[in-house]
Amino acid sequence: MVNFLLSQSQQAVQATEAAPQVIKQTPFSPSHSRFGCYEEFLQTCLEQGYQFCTFPELREPKHQIALRHDIDFDTNFALQSATIERQMGIKATYFFLLRSSLYNIFSPQDFENVQLIRDMGHTITVHFDPSIYPDFHRGLQQEVALFREIFNAEVGIVSLHRPNAFFQEYDAPIYGIEHTYQSKYFRDVKYISDSTGVWRFGHPFDTPEFKQQKSLHILIHPIWWMLDGESNVEKLRQYYSRRVDALKADFSNNCIPFRKLNGHV
Ligand SMILES: [Zn+2]
Repeated sequence: MVNFLLSQSQQAVQATEAAPQVIKQTPFSPSHSRFGCYEEFLQTCLEQGYQFCTFPELREPKHQIALRHDIDFDTNFALQSATIERQMGIKATYFFLLRSSLYNIFSPQDFENVQLIRDMGHTITVHFDPSIYPDFHRGLQQEVALFREIFNAEVGIVSLHRPNAFFQEYDAPIYGIEHTYQSKYFRDVKYISDSTGVWRFGHPFDTPEFKQQKSLHILIHPIWWMLDGESNVEKLRQYYSRRVDALKADFSNNCIPFRKLNGHV
């Protein structure tokens, strides 16, 4: 059992001292990674007196967490975290890429996953990469129109994918729509992120803001929590292998000649 009130280095020491644990690997097994179990992470936030809210609701100086999920790799991990949150009565905001080369929200499976997450009561909206447009206002206008149409969902806020320094400082709405790097969400409340699969600025539970129950903006990428592995690289290795297998299956299902090759690639 991971103790979230310990630092990562303390957890690592505990992990090496603990008896080896055999964990059945399935696509939907809970994570026992160094991040710990996602349910326990959320439970500790609840026990600390926090309530989870949407971004527009994030107004109080204390006791609120806007829980944000930027989906960069795979909607299946998003569905897993959404299911856990729903079971715990927690609502989160899920941001999806429309122009990703790693998943496609128009594909049958991704489309269904996003719909299921919406139907659980979570907020679904756009994760926007402004760098691919000559006019990012126009680009967002197009993506929002498409997202609203296919998911019948309002888009009140977006998050930016890998924002450069310009967009991290961009404090105005884009195409009239708020984004998560505006000061009210990014500087006026404590921002905590698991980007790249590590707590780069320390574990959130070690921060003075958490200890004082101050309101938080927490960015969680479900991929780092839903895969087992001792490190971010180990998790990526496992995930990459799984994606290669899925790609081979898709090739086989869509192209009969590939089936002759399948055992050799
Ligand atoms: Zn992103």
